[in-house]
Amino acid sequence: MHEFAIARSVLAAVRAEAELRPGTRVSKIGLRIGDLAGLDADALSFCFEALTKGTDFGSVTLEIERKPRRQGCSRCSKEFVVVNYETSCPACGRRRPFFSAEMNSNSPILRWRSYDADSPRTEGLARE
Ligand SMILES: [Zn+2]
Repeated sequence: MHEFAIARSVLAAVRAEAELRPGTRVSKIGLRIGDLAGLDADALSFCFEALTKGTDFGSVTLEIERKPRRQGCSRCSKEFVVVNYETSCPACGRRRPFFSAEMNSNSPILRWRSYDADSPRTEGLARE
């Protein structure tokens, strides 16, 4: 299951981050998933729960936010959100119209944030 591998990767990244900050208690992990990542958020939550149950991370809340994919047209400069993998420009109809994959094309599939009572916020990346 794809989501299981992702959940394990997220947990490993968060665990590594927490180990860098002794005394930190992770209470919440915010995940941002690109719409085109092909991930099932419910399955991911389920896998995360299964992996953390009975561990130090058992009480961690996983918050998943979907991030729409934005494209820009190289012909007419229209910017639009990709829905259902349709990447043709809605304004001029050009296929594969992007001038850049998106505004921040290097953004990862997943971004996680961990929060705790003492430090304001740590942010890191988890990749497949
Ligand atoms: Zn266009």
